[in-house]
Amino acid sequence: MLKVNNLSVHYGVIEAVRDVSFEVNEGEIVSLIGANGAGKTTILQTLSGLNKPTNGSITFKGKKIHGTTPKKIVKNGISHVPEGRHVFSGMTVKENLEMGSFLRKDKEGIKKDMDRVFDRFPVLKERINQDAATLSGGEQQMLAMGRALVSQPELLLLDEPSMGLAPLFIREIFSIVEDINNNGTTVLLVEQNAKVALEISNRGYVLETGKIVTSGIGEKLLESDEVQKAYLGG
Ligand code: ATP
Repeated sequence: MLKVNNLSVHYGVIEAVRDVSFEVNEGEIVSLIGANGAGKTTILQTLSGLNKPTNGSITFKGKKIHGTTPKKIVKNGISHVPEGRHVFSGMTVKENLEMGSFLRKDKEGIKKDMDRVFDRFPVLKERINQDAATLSGGEQQMLAMGRALVSQPELLLLDEPSMGLAPLFIREIFSIVEDINNNGTTVLLVEQNAKVALEISNRGYVLETGKIVTSGIGEKLLESDEVQKAYLGG
C-alpha cells in the first residue's frame, strides 16, 4: 500500500533521514521505533507532504505522492495525527470529532463511530460541549485518536501517541489504535516506547540516526541486538 524507497531528508546540511526504505501492506500495523532524534517524525512529515525529500520516492496505492501537497495527500486517504497536543481549541469536543468526519458521507456510519469513541472514552462524552482546549493532555490525546477513528482514513500516520501519558492511558490509547485498525484502517506508528508499539504491531523497523538498522516481526524485534543497543546502549 505504501512504499518508501531510498528516502533521504535534509534540514540544511543536516541529514535527518538517510536512504530509508520500508513498506506498509494493507491491513497492517507497522511501527517505526527508535530513540530521540532518530528521524521518526521527519519521516512521517515527509509522508504527509510537510517535508520535501532530497532523494528517493514515496508511492501510495501505486501512485507517487512525494512532491504533492499535504491537502492532496489527505484526499488520497492518508491522515496524520502529529506529536503533542493536536485538537482544535475554540471548538468543542463534538465539533472536533465532526471535523474528523468531514470527508465522509455516510451519516449513520459516522454516528456509529462517534458512539464507539464515547463508549471507549466516556470522559469525552461527559465533556462533549466543552472547549477542547480545557481538556487535560491525556484527554486531548483521546480526542485526537477519536477524531482519527471517525475520519476512517485508509492509512493513519500516528506520531508518538504515548507521549507524556500515564501508563494507564497508554494502554487505552493503544487499544483504540487496534480498534481503528480492525475497522479497516492501515496504521503506521512512530514510537519511542518500543514495547507497547511492537506488542500491537505486525512488523517493525528500528531507526538509528536516520537509518533503518533492522526490521522484523512485531514483538520478536524487541529481542534483537539493535533494539537493545538503541534503547539500552545509547
Ligand atoms: P523525536 O522523538 O525527538 O521527535 P525523531 O526520531 O522523531 O525524534 P526527528 O524529530 O525526525 O527525530 O529528528 C531527526 C533529526 O533531525 C534530529 O537530529 C533533529 O535534531 C533534526 N531536526 C528535526 N527537525 C529539525 C528542524 N526543523 N531543523 C533542523 N534539524 C531538525
